[in-house]
Amino acid sequence: MVDFTLTDEQKSMREMAHDFAEKEIRPVAWEYDREGTWPQEILEKAWEVGLMNSHLPPEYGGPGLGYLDGALIEEEIAWGCSGIGTSLSCNGLATAPIGLAASEKLKKEYLGRLSEAPLLASFCLTEPDAGSDVSGMRTTAVKQGDKYVINGSKCFITNGGYADYYTVYAKTDKDAGHRGISAFVVERDWGVIVDKKEDKLGQRASNTATISFNDVEVPAENLLGEENKGFKLAMMTLDRTRPGVAAMATGIARAAFEFATDYSKERVQFGVPIAMHQGIQFMIADMATEIEAARLLTWKSAFMLDNGERNSLVSSHAKRFAADAAMKIATDAVQVYGGYGFIKDYPVEKLFRDAKIMQLYEGTSQIQRLVIARETLLPRRSEEPTAVPA
Ligand SMILES: Cc1cc2nc3c(=O)[nH]c(=O)nc-3n(C[C@H](O)[C@H](O)[C@H](O)COP(=O)(O)OP(=O)(O)OC[C@H]3O[C@@H](n4cnc5c(N)ncnc54)[C@H](O)[C@@H]3O)c2cc1C
Repeated sequence: MVDFTLTDEQKSMREMAHDFAEKEIRPVAWEYDREGTWPQEILEKAWEVGLMNSHLPPEYGGPGLGYLDGALIEEEIAWGCSGIGTSLSCNGLATAPIGLAASEKLKKEYLGRLSEAPLLASFCLTEPDAGSDVSGMRTTAVKQGDKYVINGSKCFITNGGYADYYTVYAKTDKDAGHRGISAFVVERDWGVIVDKKEDKLGQRASNTATISFNDVEVPAENLLGEENKGFKLAMMTLDRTRPGVAAMATGIARAAFEFATDYSKERVQFGVPIAMHQGIQFMIADMATEIEAARLLTWKSAFMLDNGERNSLVSSHAKRFAADAAMKIATDAVQVYGGYGFIKDYPVEKLFRDAKIMQLYEGTSQIQRLVIARETLLPRRSEEPTAVPA
């Protein structure tokens, strides 16, 4: 049996998220994008109404919602503005490794903190020389007695300038490639330096920062899981967060589709609304199909997680397809607007810029294809459970 019916709770949660996006995000989204304004007030309101940290388990003060629930929220918020959506949802990325591998004490401390106040956490994997290939990272964590000393630098860190704490990946065995990486929780006050905020093409209301660690001392108990098992933890984290990125891509695509559809009915050329021209109709039709398909893959990848199934393949299908669809749909939305689509006074120009990041972060579209090829050519049993349950 396949059932795509949402529960009443899911429907009202989606409605609440949509309402929030419509009333709190949309009215300021284009202005925040233009100025690169940090959406602090919106974050605080979203935290108050329960639209942040949906994944936090009740034992740490959260609502304990599922991955599908989270995807429903993320699509709506990204429909409002995906830059603000990225800022709102980044705690899910940063805390996934804590949920997967931290001791009970660390979970209580760091997950609990996010439910007590509207604080942010960041996920620090990427480095200047280690993007798609994280095994090239140079940040080191050297054990000295009951602490680790971290040195190095991370780039492109979402919410990096505002985070209260960071989940940081560093080499504990420099010569072991991806088998020498470990993960730690590092508090900002322990000496994390925020070097610079990036000036970006899109998602300009989100904060993307370069940060560095100069002899930052971290208690040994803040190691997440086992030493040198950080790579696996990062991959398991991304399996869990890619459905959320796919949901955000679907939200951007839906926004672009709606603007393009409305405009095509208003704009008259050759004596009729341009929606009457088959060339425009076919673009709109393809947008509609791709949004449906992106959402179905997103829901499936989230549903598998909620059912304790390993979802690496479907997660990459969803992220790759939804990201590429969002870029294509936003590009076609600009096409439907004609020259006006290229002008900042019209809404689709921002969506075109925002969509691009979907094909880049949390694994580029090429890296998703690598995962899909590996999983297809060397399949693992799909019912094989993940090593550590979420
Ligand atoms: C706005 C923004 C927010 C981000 N947030 C975070 C964050 O919070 N935390 C974090 O850790 N990182 C974050 N990132 C980093 C992001 O995940 C990386 O940019 C991404 O993984 C790609 O790495 P790279 O930029 O070094 O590109 P590279 O790895 O240098 O890739 C360059 C190009 O080569 C292609 N390529 C690389 N290897 C292969 C291959 N084997 N086969 C085919 N093609 C290949 C890539 O697809 C890409 O097209 C963020 C990035 C941005 C721009």
